[in-house]
Amino acid sequence: MVELQGIPVSPGVAIGPALVLDAAGYRIPRTLLAADEVDAEFARLREAVDQVSTGLEANRLETSAVAGEHTGDIFAAQLQMLHDPRLQAELRRRIREERQSAAYAVSRVLHNYAAAIRRVDSPLLADRADDVLDIEKQLLMCLGAVSAGPLSDLSEPVIVLSHVLTPSETANLDRQYVRAFCTETGGPGGHTAIVAKGLELPAVVGIGSFLDQVGDHCNVIVDGDRGKVIINPDAETIAYYRKKLKDRRSLTARLSELRDLPAETIDGTPVRLSANIEFPHETATCIERGADGVGLYRTEFLYLSSHEEPSEEDHYQAYSRVIREMDGRPVVIRTLDLGADKMGHRPLAEHEHNPFLGLRSIRLSLRNLDLFRPQLRAILRAAIHGDVRVMFPLITTLAEYRQARMLLNVVAEDLVESGIPHRSNIPVGMMVEVPAAVMMLERFAQEVDFLSIGTNDLAQYTLAVDRSNENVAELYQSSDPAVLRLIARCVEVAAQFDKPLSICGEMSSNPARALLLLGMGVRHLSVPPSSLLRVKKAIRSVSIDQCIEIADRVMQLEAARDVDLYLLDRLGEYVPELIVT
Ligand code: PEP
Ligand code: MG
Repeated sequence: MVELQGIPVSPGVAIGPALVLDAAGYRIPRTLLAADEVDAEFARLREAVDQVSTGLEANRLETSAVAGEHTGDIFAAQLQMLHDPRLQAELRRRIREERQSAAYAVSRVLHNYAAAIRRVDSPLLADRADDVLDIEKQLLMCLGAVSAGPLSDLSEPVIVLSHVLTPSETANLDRQYVRAFCTETGGPGGHTAIVAKGLELPAVVGIGSFLDQVGDHCNVIVDGDRGKVIINPDAETIAYYRKKLKDRRSLTARLSELRDLPAETIDGTPVRLSANIEFPHETATCIERGADGVGLYRTEFLYLSSHEEPSEEDHYQAYSRVIREMDGRPVVIRTLDLGADKMGHRPLAEHEHNPFLGLRSIRLSLRNLDLFRPQLRAILRAAIHGDVRVMFPLITTLAEYRQARMLLNVVAEDLVESGIPHRSNIPVGMMVEVPAAVMMLERFAQEVDFLSIGTNDLAQYTLAVDRSNENVAELYQSSDPAVLRLIARCVEVAAQFDKPLSICGEMSSNPARALLLLGMGVRHLSVPPSSLLRVKKAIRSVSIDQCIEIADRVMQLEAARDVDLYLLDRLGEYVPELIVT
């Protein structure tokens, strides 16, 4: 039995056989060719190399035209790597002399190549290593080795163990069979973590190197509550976790009774409790768990979960479905938040060294109007079906907000001129995710219809800590007193200008932190559907005076750790059922 500790990012427990993916997420079996198969296999490799070359050259030309030669050079460099004579010679040797299959040879040679680059400890070269893995993936796809990878060909329940999973890979996990996942890399606030929560898939990330210790089909326990991964558990541990699973099921059953009861404190203070969604199908869970509306619809997942860039019609269909299914309840559509760890179909930004500080989110939308306009048109068109509100992410300057709002007006005028049914008098808001916006909030508050604090990014940008980096995960705390002071300021300004304010970052999905937010004056929380009933339970277990007392005490504390310990204590006192052991 081996017990590993990682970062818990999505609660729940799962027990099952391991499916180990190699560093790039593929599993290429080693196969030995018969002597008479070697020539044909080598020809297949050459064909794959030609196909990838053609693709890279097309990417280079297209990208250079759209985003400048500098960006196009990324593909020129990949082409050069692909044709590196030493690399080609090694592939030839493995197929011809060692009789390895082309796919196996590609996966081994390119992996070794990437690993050698990684050993030179330079951030610049680390990007190069990713380029090599990208070439590997393309070659493997041409060779037909990864098009139907292990993840798309499951027939039994598994626990996925991988070096890394991107948000889109996570979004595409087959929920029928994948019970949980664990990764060597990743941090608590990354979008992979958010998708896992959205899918209600127990997950532990940032474990560090451990895949070498695990074989396929090993029995594994994932404890998403405490960030533990247990390989080959003994009978006693299995019994303990089976009981835990049973307890969780019975808590879920008890919580489901709260579905139709209002989210209000003991003394009757009403709280609006909405849900965060990434995909239209999640509305079913929102309704099932009694959400008051959708407080954050992360529309960029439409990009991340499809193979082609979505059209205006695709946007329209997705939004219309969400709005109709929410049946009159408010739906807040957040415009595209692509970039950083959520990449789209085409290279939209130059290769960046600090993508979280780069061309992401609203900045990227405003620079790619051919991407942004169809989305805005679709939102206004879909708005005829219900109570729709739109908000812009990562607003940092007034100019950005004004530009986005102006574009919305222009799009509305276009729709009028073309006689296309739509509704343009919808509330327009902004996400408060950057300290600069908090400092300028009095100005913003005069122009926006509502505010929504994205504590995931607000914590990242306040504490100067990458939300998806496991090395600094300890520092990434939305309960940090500095973050709390910024939130307090937002609450004050929102009240002063009489603007509705919500919190849609993950912070509000933690029942203890939710009580703190109520005490600070927040009355609208938006949480993943999986957390709705727990947060409602917490709200219904306290009086608003108790929450104020909690907030007063917390604002005297100096460190996130002290805040969380104190909050856990209070939660234990007021809502002991929610304490996970
Ligand atoms: C946030 O930053 O808190 C937020 C809700 O947006 P996202 O997590 O999608 O960046
Ligand atoms: Mg954000």
